[in-house]
Amino acid sequence: MKKDPTCPQCRVALEQGFLLDQRQSSAGSVARWVEGVPAKSMWTGIQTKDRRVRPITSYRCPDCGLLLDYAIGTTRAWART
Ligand SMILES: [Zn+2]
Repeated sequence: MKKDPTCPQCRVALEQGFLLDQRQSSAGSVARWVEGVPAKSMWTGIQTKDRRVRPITSYRCPDCGLLLDYAIGTTRAWART
């Protein structure tokens, strides 16, 4: 990304961060964007097999708290980051 995004309401630079998914392990992992609608499996929870999956970068406005999420790049489903 060339330039940090700005809040459309406050016109200030957003802070870069990420969404933590703590259910994957005790230490947690970065939440991911998965294509399509969630399909539950009895044995493995939400199915991600053969889906396109991307790690989420989340920007937060320090003034109003707005979150702006970007899913750039690719990763394997639920691989540790
Ligand atoms: Zn704002």
